[in-house]
Amino acid sequence: MRKPIIAGNWKMFKTSSEAVSFLAEVKGKAEIDGVESVICAPFTALPSLVKAAEGTTIAIGAQNVHYEDSGAYTGEISGGMLKELGVKYVIVGHSERRAYFGETDEIVNKKVHAAFRHGLTPIVCVGEKLEEREAGQTKEVCRVQTEGALQGLSAAQAAEVVIAYEPIWAIGTGKSSTAADAEDVIAYIRSVVKDLFGQSTADAIRIQYGGSVKPANVAEYLGQPNIDGALVGGASLEPASYVQLIEGA
Ligand code: PGA
Repeated sequence: MRKPIIAGNWKMFKTSSEAVSFLAEVKGKAEIDGVESVICAPFTALPSLVKAAEGTTIAIGAQNVHYEDSGAYTGEISGGMLKELGVKYVIVGHSERRAYFGETDEIVNKKVHAAFRHGLTPIVCVGEKLEEREAGQTKEVCRVQTEGALQGLSAAQAAEVVIAYEPIWAIGTGKSSTAADAEDVIAYIRSVVKDLFGQSTADAIRIQYGGSVKPANVAEYLGQPNIDGALVGGASLEPASYVQLIEGA
C-alpha cells in the first residue's frame, strides 16, 4: 500500500526564524499515522528546520538541487550539501523552474540522478500548460516529461520517486483541476511508469496532485484511487492550514 504524502512547497517564502516558528506550531499536530508530512523550504531555512523537526515525523525537503556533485557553479547547491544537513526530499522540475530557469527534461533527469546519488528522494513535477490542455495534449505532455525524468533509473529507484502532477494553469490560481480529471491524468502517468518499469513499480510509485489544493478540497483528491498525496504551495504557508491538509489526507 502506498503511504499518502502531503508536501508543502513554500517557494520563496519564510526566513529561517519564520520556518522554526512554523514548525513549533505544527509539531505534534501535523504528525498523523498513515500520512507522510513533508515541508520543502528555501535553502537558507533548511539547517534550522531540520533541527527543529528532530524527533518528529515531519520530513524536510529542498526545492532544487544542482545536477553536478561539486564544481564551479556559482550560487548552486549540491545533493551532498543537502544530504549532510539531514534533508530527505528535493523537488525537481517544478514548473516555475522550468519556466523561469530554463529547466528542460534533460536537466530534470540529471537532477533526479543527482538526488539518488546522495540518498535524497526526488519529488518530480510534471504538468501541462493551459494551451496544451486546450489542445488536448495533456497526457502527451505528461508522458514525455515522465519518461524524460525517469530515464536511466532502475526499477527500484523509480519506485522511490514521488511524481507530482501539477497542471500549470492550476498553480496559485485558485482554479484547481477536478478530482476526476486529476485522477484520469494520474492513472495515465501510472500506466506510463508501468510501460517503463513494470507493474510492481507502477503499483509502488506515489503520484501526488498539485495546483490550488487547500484544506477544503484535499480529501476529494486523496479519495481517488490513484492520487497518493498533494504538493501544496499557498495553503501550506499557514500552520493551521498545513495541519488541516495533513488531517484531511
Ligand atoms: P499552489 O502551488 O498550491 O499555491 O497552487 C502548488 C505548487 O506550485 O506546487
